[in-house]
Amino acid sequence: MDFTLSQRAEDLRQRVRAFVADHVLPLEADPQSYNEFENIRMNLRDDLRVKAKAAGLWAPQMPESRGGLGLSMVEQAVFYEEANRSIFGPVCFNCAAPDDGNMRCLEMVASEDQKQRWLQPIIDGSVNSSFAMTEPHPGGGSDPGMIQTRAERVGDRWRITGRKWYISGAAVAKHFILMARTDPSPEERRRHLTAFLFHADSPGWRIVRRIGNMGPDEHGGVCELEFDGLEIPDHDRLMEVGDGLRMTQIRLGPARLTHCMRWLGMAKRCMEIAQAYVSDREGFGIRLADRESVQLTLGEVAHDIQIGRLLTMHAAWKLDQGDRARKEVSSAKIHVADTLFKAVDTAIQLNGARGYSTDTILEWVYRYARAAKLVDGASEVHKMVLARFYGKDGSDYWQWG
Ligand SMILES: Cc1cc2nc3c(=O)[nH]c(=O)nc-3n(C[C@H](O)[C@H](O)[C@H](O)COP(=O)(O)OP(=O)(O)OC[C@H]3O[C@@H](n4cnc5c(N)ncnc54)[C@H](O)[C@@H]3O)c2cc1C
Repeated sequence: MDFTLSQRAEDLRQRVRAFVADHVLPLEADPQSYNEFENIRMNLRDDLRVKAKAAGLWAPQMPESRGGLGLSMVEQAVFYEEANRSIFGPVCFNCAAPDDGNMRCLEMVASEDQKQRWLQPIIDGSVNSSFAMTEPHPGGGSDPGMIQTRAERVGDRWRITGRKWYISGAAVAKHFILMARTDPSPEERRRHLTAFLFHADSPGWRIVRRIGNMGPDEHGGVCELEFDGLEIPDHDRLMEVGDGLRMTQIRLGPARLTHCMRWLGMAKRCMEIAQAYVSDREGFGIRLADRESVQLTLGEVAHDIQIGRLLTMHAAWKLDQGDRARKEVSSAKIHVADTLFKAVDTAIQLNGARGYSTDTILEWVYRYARAAKLVDGASEVHKMVLARFYGKDGSDYWQWG
């Protein structure tokens, strides 16, 4: 096993780090940079996007032929971690959710014509996108087999009726990937899901509400959508009829892992803020950093972050080998979601009252981090997946090959 980074990955890491330090962190520190939903103002985001493109740090996950950097998953792990040293970082490099997952999914499964129409504008940064799968009860959530939104064939079109909720970015997105049921019979519960593409300007659907939440929000928030006769031409269907679940798995594996890559960067930043405070602050005659109990606390988080990095790198490496890495991605997702939460909670505690204030980004990250155990599969569901693998493989579960 060789953990040496390629020269290219190390070079990019340093350039992303410098870009974040020079251009992104100063904006993050200025309260005027935030919109009403606590994210970077769109005009500032767009200025930074122009700079990131000019610096050759744009769309790391996309092929060079489409204007990206064509990085492997292992190289992306390095890039994304550094990008998310700032909470504003990933969106400036066009590697933030949900566009990140949508782009890589379209790149993998869309036809050439679909890529030109639906993918290229997201890569170029001229539109944002959403992925609409989750539904209110009795529809699909953790179990996509419960999806109720219907797509009924009418000639060469599909007519969509149903409801979705918690759809990230929907309030600003133009390009949507939608998961719907193309066969209502109960025995076809899992097989007859199909993915479609639609444009926000099409009639027959609406945003019912932008759902209030602990926030902070991605651009476009999380929204509830209603479909009441949206018509989608058959040529905007992704993959074959009945391939929806397969498409979901293709999208969600790498998307979950890139969440981990970003969250590790955020967790490291929390440590950085904690370390700076305890290095200066004194109490009862000594620096906080010199107290063994403080050292044990910081050491434990550093240890958890490194475990998360190894799990993430291992899963990234397996994906690069063409493996779906389901077990490895689930392990990384469970651990890194917990680690992000632990890192920010620890950093708040070590900063005392300052940690609870809005003088640092810690309270922002704390609220954001709570969603990590829910999005792209609740931690319990990923543990269920691991238990299934263990039940099937026994001690072969831990095979390296
Ligand atoms: C900030 C945010 C952004 C999101 N963005 C999107 C998006 O862009 N597109 C989209 O389609 N969805 C999105 N979601 C929805 C998210 O993917 C779902 O919330 C998640 O998959 C869980 O589904 P659910 O909420 O229906 O929970 P449910 O399925 O109702 O489950 C509720 C809880 O039950 C427990 N549970 C469920 N199954 C099991 C099990 N097998 N074993 C043990 N316990 C279990 C878990 O604790 C789980 O949290 C987003 C959610 C949030 C919070």
